[in-house]
Amino acid sequence: MSSPTTSIQSATSHSTAADVDVDVVIVGAGISGIGAACHLRRELPHETFVILEGREAIGGTWDLFRYPGIRSDSDLHTFAYEFKPWTSDNAIADACEILDYLEETVEEYGLAPHIRFGHRVLGADFSAQDARWTLRVQRADTAETFELTCRVLFSAAGYYDYAAGHLPAFEGRDSFHGAIVHPQQWPEDLDYAGRRVVVIGSGATAVTLIPAMAGTAAHVTMLQRSPSYVMSLPAKDPIANGLRRALPAKLAYRITRRMNVARQRLIYDLSMRHPTLVRRLIRALTKHQLPAGYAVDTHFNPRYNPWEERLCAVRNGDLFKAIREGRASIVTDRIVRFTERGILLESGAELEADIIVTATGLNLLAFGGMELSIEGEPVDLGDAVAYKSMMLSGVPNFAFAVGYTNSSWTLKVDLVCEHLCRLLAHMDARGYASVVPVLEDETMERRPLLDFHAGYVRRAVDVFPKQGSRGPWTLEMSYAHDRRRLRKGPVEDAALRFASSDSCTPGELLAA
Ligand SMILES: Cc1cc2nc3c(=O)[nH]c(=O)nc-3n(C[C@H](O)[C@H](O)[C@H](O)COP(=O)(O)OP(=O)(O)OC[C@H]3O[C@@H](n4cnc5c(N)ncnc54)[C@H](O)[C@@H]3O)c2cc1C
Repeated sequence: MSSPTTSIQSATSHSTAADVDVDVVIVGAGISGIGAACHLRRELPHETFVILEGREAIGGTWDLFRYPGIRSDSDLHTFAYEFKPWTSDNAIADACEILDYLEETVEEYGLAPHIRFGHRVLGADFSAQDARWTLRVQRADTAETFELTCRVLFSAAGYYDYAAGHLPAFEGRDSFHGAIVHPQQWPEDLDYAGRRVVVIGSGATAVTLIPAMAGTAAHVTMLQRSPSYVMSLPAKDPIANGLRRALPAKLAYRITRRMNVARQRLIYDLSMRHPTLVRRLIRALTKHQLPAGYAVDTHFNPRYNPWEERLCAVRNGDLFKAIREGRASIVTDRIVRFTERGILLESGAELEADIIVTATGLNLLAFGGMELSIEGEPVDLGDAVAYKSMMLSGVPNFAFAVGYTNSSWTLKVDLVCEHLCRLLAHMDARGYASVVPVLEDETMERRPLLDFHAGYVRRAVDVFPKQGSRGPWTLEMSYAHDRRRLRKGPVEDAALRFASSDSCTPGELLAA
């Protein structure tokens, strides 16, 4: 794909880029956006690209969240890029270790000059005649907006709103005399030493920060409406570390990655096929780590089956250890209202606290809130259907990174980036200017894109694109399937319309 370009390399990271036109714009410098840029560098070195990042740092999720103990719950041998081995001894890694890895990647691939920090993409309009997107971009420092054009728009903007996390309206909130903190906006100077802390929530964030705070706080109580599955994972993977000592890093990484993908799949498949058996197994493992007589069924027996929602992982069983040592406890109850001293529960009990942490989740946001339009006509995202889980029906030259929810997010994103590069190479070779997926069967059943039962996913179903029920319109949660579809499968497809002319109307493009 050739295009007139101004020199992106020479532009400073804060320059106004009104005159810039590139082949690909990547929105977001999180792990997905940086990965996409590496794929372009490796597979299509002639393509010009720029990464527009709304914040002032790379890393996305791993830079935004600053709560105590922030770490992955996936093993890094599957969460890290396929093309860059994870060489730390820690399989479950702290955010800072993940950020170091990303910084190293940016350095190795010379990406720094391509990243524009403090550049938020507000919207993008596609012109079929020019086969180009015109992006509306806002600079964080001056609030000035300007335009930038590109052939292909790749959204690596994550899936939630960076502005604020989800916060239910708790009655009496203002009457509470202590501090109320959301994990997404953790105050740097929060002093919780010797304080009584109540954490509302039972998800991945709650089970991470509770043991991390429990060493310093007077006591930490996890207040949950209903239980989640909690599994202990070892911080270090002895097989991975042994292999790395015996074999070249790349080979050791490849083997570990394959084994871990297979293990994750096995657990997921077993959970789908034999939910009762897996539920019993998890219960037995949980009970084993708790004090004798502990009310396992009250606090650790979810209403849903394993993997209907993401399983929570705790590092080296740290949550269970904090409970055993009396530094943390769990209360399963419903909130009536906040009081001056803490939280009044439906059981009539009052939980006293100095600090309340509302680990109540995220607000989902599709494509970083970008408003897409085609020839000025707004795209109704809720109506669009995902093609091969990486493009949208009726939206030309657009792709996005959405990963797995039952495995490492990035395993899928790697494959999506690879497929996108193959698609662009194919277009280059044939002289195509545009590509658009067309869903002809309007009656095809539509399902939520993220087919997950978690509350925060259900709240956002309407504003997210959908998936179909067959063919390239399904979103698969299987790495093996996606390897066949995205890595080995052809890029030409009956559902894709290519247009070689630089001067066709949207109607002609869709009918091409
Ligand atoms: C606390 C937490 C822990 C997690 N742990 C795991 C885990 O262990 N394993 C796992 O698989 N998944 C995990 N996830 C899911 C996780 O978010 C993804 O795995 C992964 O980090 C997402 O990377 P990303 O690059 O796709 O998106 P993000 O990390 O969300 O990055 C998106 C980037 O895009 C930028 N952006 C957004 N909108 C715009 C815009 N309009 N213009 C310009 N820039 C924009 C953002 O500023 C951000 O830098 C976790 C999520 C959270 C919240």
